[in-house]
Amino acid sequence: MLKSLLIANRGEIACRVIRTARRMGIRTVAVYSDADAKALHVRQADEAVHIGPSPARESYLVGEKIIAAAKQTGAEAIHPGYGFLSENADFAQAVIDAGLIWVGPKPASIRAMGLKDAAKKLMQDAGVPTTPGYLGENQDPDHLKAEADAIGYPVLIKAVAGGGGKGMRRVEASDDFLDALASCQREAASAFGDDRVLIEKYILSPRHIEVQVFGDAHGNVVHLFERDCSLQRRHQKVIEEAPAPGMDAATREAVCAAAVRAAKAVDYEGAGTIEFIADASEGLRADRIWFMEMNTRLQVEHPVTEEITGQDLVEWQLRVASGEPLPKRQDELSINGWAMEARLYAEDPVKGFLPSVGRLEIFREHRDVRLETGVYEGAEITGFYDPMIAKIVVHADDREAACEALAGACCSTDIFPVKTNAPFLWRALDDEDFRAGRIDTGFIAAKGDALLPPSEPSEDMVKQAAAAVLVQEYYGAPTTLSFWDDDLLSQPQPNPWRGALGFRLNREPNRKVSVAVEGQVYETELPDDWASKPIVGEPVASGVAVNDDGLSFLAALPRFSGATVGAAADGAILSPMPGRVIAVAVGAGESVAKGQKLLTIEAMKMEHTLTAPFDGVVSELDASEGAQVSEGALLARIEKDSE
Ligand code: ADP
Repeated sequence: MLKSLLIANRGEIACRVIRTARRMGIRTVAVYSDADAKALHVRQADEAVHIGPSPARESYLVGEKIIAAAKQTGAEAIHPGYGFLSENADFAQAVIDAGLIWVGPKPASIRAMGLKDAAKKLMQDAGVPTTPGYLGENQDPDHLKAEADAIGYPVLIKAVAGGGGKGMRRVEASDDFLDALASCQREAASAFGDDRVLIEKYILSPRHIEVQVFGDAHGNVVHLFERDCSLQRRHQKVIEEAPAPGMDAATREAVCAAAVRAAKAVDYEGAGTIEFIADASEGLRADRIWFMEMNTRLQVEHPVTEEITGQDLVEWQLRVASGEPLPKRQDELSINGWAMEARLYAEDPVKGFLPSVGRLEIFREHRDVRLETGVYEGAEITGFYDPMIAKIVVHADDREAACEALAGACCSTDIFPVKTNAPFLWRALDDEDFRAGRIDTGFIAAKGDALLPPSEPSEDMVKQAAAAVLVQEYYGAPTTLSFWDDDLLSQPQPNPWRGALGFRLNREPNRKVSVAVEGQVYETELPDDWASKPIVGEPVASGVAVNDDGLSFLAALPRFSGATVGAAADGAILSPMPGRVIAVAVGAGESVAKGQKLLTIEAMKMEHTLTAPFDGVVSELDASEGAQVSEGALLARIEKDSE
């Protein structure tokens, strides 16, 4: 068995590999870029080597630096994870040439599966069904068009060197073919330096079915059943599960056997995935499932296979790389229950899924799920790498229970202030068609806005936010309070908000409260029984973070004098919300006394007065009457009287 291992990757997959290696008593070496100096994988490894600046091109993608790091630390083997250099045959060869063990397939196997047309030909020869289409050498546009006409529209033009969804064009009709071809060739030439294409029949109601395979150096190959990864957003997988809904035993047998033939055809060693596309217009049928491509590495979604088979695929990889035979024979493997994985991304579904970067002030996991992550509370999500925060993995007796568990976990994962796709994930998991297994790769696009969370907080959320803010205010930061304390009602209340808000505990019926949610002020009335409900909110520096089904909001008191929002300790007078300056009561250079009125801001038809936090001089005045100001804008600065 290996004694030491360098992991040529970062994030959750580096952590995942380290976990198994440690359990097996293998010494681990991490590599990291500038941005990852404090990353979780660096903390978890026994040793870590800095390999360069933050951009992956200058660190994680530089093979020589990684090999040098292995040499320097005496690591025996290199595990590439997924992405980065994992499917780079030249790197695999360089690792071997350096006298190290490559935890992956032989470079020749990677090369054989590297080009789409060559791989498809190889598969046809091995008796693996491939998508109907044209793979020929003749790249003359008129010839290609004649082939497309013969296949029948719609067709898909694919760059033979393509990957990552690039270099593909769907063509609806013969007349559009030549234009689409020219544009696909241009993209392929610039992205891959190879403008050759192949043509495939465009599969309607396509489902993405893939089979986990494993080979060893002794000629054994087994499969570990299928996964369904049909839930995709712009060709990127979002939710994966195993087994595939609606897969009967005979179809499974056929597709898994085809996958094993595919792996044997390239003399495969280690973990690999054979991806198929299925025409699911009439359910899953063995004669309508075709080979699409092989991924010659461990897949992001491997945990769902681990959950249903009870195997640790990283352990399998390390054993195979050490020269051991596969840990199990085919007849020792079986499917147990149902597993599902959701990819939690730092992106804002309300804003077109734009990446959302920043510090994870709050990151609380949901208990009872398997969470694969490379970050921790307090860590930074940067724009340098894939914005995945975590994979949430569940395992249950059946699909219904797995959906339920995963939806619940997506709703209750607390993350702030980084926005995540959690509210989108749970809407997908809660969808009636998804629950019934009526899924294909067009599911998310077809559902459209129905899967998006509202951009405004719901009325219930505003009430919840108001209650959370009041409780927080009463106890004072940074008290964590998840349930309302009955005793509160009988305690003396030294808190300042009562007067400010016109909210008086125990004095019916005035329960009107104003609360700022994400800088917008809402007026709400708390229900009579609000005090007996659980209050879910987490104190943060600027207020309370409230989780609304996976969507986090910042709630704060719209209070404009005093310490919290209006005036920072350094005398900076910031706008607590977007609004308009309607009065400026002081001039630059003027002396002011504590509590003196400085400016008035109007927002949501309410006027708010900002006052001086202490005696001093108006050293800066950036606000003028009538100006529109955004939240946090500097309006004025008060310099404290010196003495
Ligand atoms: P890439 O290598 O760029 O990821 P793939 O060949 O793996 O490209 O295809 C990516 C995705 O495109 C698939 O997951 C599937 O959703 C869709 N796709 C691929 N081939 C077809 C086809 N013939 N018909 C319909 N959809 C397809």
